[in-house]
Amino acid sequence: MGGSGFDMGVGLVVAETELSVSELVDVSAALLIVRRSSCSVVWSTDLTLDKALSLPAYPGQVGIRPVTLNWGANTPQERGPIIVSRHPSALKIRQVNAVGSYGGSYCVYRALAVAIGALEPTHLPNLENTTPPVAIGPHPQWNDPSKIVSIDPYGHVVADAFADQIRAGTDIRPSIAVTKAHMTLEEMTTAVRQGRIQVDGRVVINERGDVNVAKAAVEPVWYLPGVAARFGIDEATLRRALFEETGGMYPELITRSDLKVFLPPIGGLSVYIFGNPEYLSDPTKKLTARVHDECNGSDVFGSDICTCRPYLIYGIEECVKEAQRGGVGVVVYFRKEGRALGEVTKYLVYNARKRQEGGDTAANYFLRTENIAGVKDMRFQALMPDVLHWLGITKIDRFMSMSNMKYDAIVEAGIEIRERCAIPDDLIPADSHVEIEAKIASGYFSTGPAPTTTSLEAVKGRSWDDISH
Ligand SMILES: [Zn+2]
Repeated sequence: MGGSGFDMGVGLVVAETELSVSELVDVSAALLIVRRSSCSVVWSTDLTLDKALSLPAYPGQVGIRPVTLNWGANTPQERGPIIVSRHPSALKIRQVNAVGSYGGSYCVYRALAVAIGALEPTHLPNLENTTPPVAIGPHPQWNDPSKIVSIDPYGHVVADAFADQIRAGTDIRPSIAVTKAHMTLEEMTTAVRQGRIQVDGRVVINERGDVNVAKAAVEPVWYLPGVAARFGIDEATLRRALFEETGGMYPELITRSDLKVFLPPIGGLSVYIFGNPEYLSDPTKKLTARVHDECNGSDVFGSDICTCRPYLIYGIEECVKEAQRGGVGVVVYFRKEGRALGEVTKYLVYNARKRQEGGDTAANYFLRTENIAGVKDMRFQALMPDVLHWLGITKIDRFMSMSNMKYDAIVEAGIEIRERCAIPDDLIPADSHVEIEAKIASGYFSTGPAPTTTSLEAVKGRSWDDISH
């Protein structure tokens, strides 16, 4: 950083490099003053930009023609495409009708690719042969603007529904992709070998236990009035917090209250379907479901401090069995690492738990997280049931989760849960009894006796004494 004079108070100040911009956004105390003129701006670093910036438009500006977007409309055409493209064609006529970028959190890598010259900013995706091989919907839930507020129910049919506009050069991208796959998991191989799962050639296709699935990847698309309503807050409060707490990343959140849809730069979710996907919305077919929040340490790397992978695998096995009985199974996998606090916070908590006086006990399990993060959980399951509505699910016969937060959110969304299935004791890793007992004490579903203060203090995790490098 080679600049002299860096005024933190005003944002864009001082004079070393001249920068021509068509609109200059001056963020001060969350108040945006948009000036429309060619300005001489002083950049506070040695950064040299020779192109005009495309900063957000503002209401009342001449030539703004956002494409109509009616959230909850009956067809994708009536609803309208979601356009957040930075493509010159979209910016020129200011047809952008949402805030953010395509690609979820990966929009930042896209920005990097453009910055280093690896990607032409004008590149348009070729969507030939990318449409879903299995149908999802449409379902009546898609037409209730309050039922689905955090994903675009038409996100997977974009290439067909808006084919004409795409052919005409408008940059409209899918936020959902659906595909098919075979899964090979060591646990399934073992389950087949031990006779718990049979090879049927349809769901489990061979002696290795390979499982036939349909799957979907879903990026977040937030309808801000609906998200605000879901949490019982007003839209302005939500927009302001999103703007401020992301370091002012999206000025349109507060300059363009006419744009109601936001594509946040956060992780999305994956859906794995076992059996016929059409059965998900068929109330005469039994449904087994697990909603799983990412835990990289356990899910992928086998860490034994929690029950995440064992419960996930148990959920998959039960979904496979349900599909083989003529029903259907679904696992939804959310990228909400470490209760949406992230893995850095999670590891800090692990350290604090292991080092605290008296050792790692179930009694203090949530307290350590709260000390560090300020809250014990930021997953806020209220948005989670959207994907179940997208799949057309109206009831769950067997819910493979003990979480009271997930249960409450799903039931409040109007989806009946008929049976809750706890993880079997023999699948709980030794060091994760601290987690599971603390969760049961906080309200998680369990068929065992309720834990007491004394019993929670007695549930201790491993110390670090057995680890030496
Ligand atoms: Zn875990």
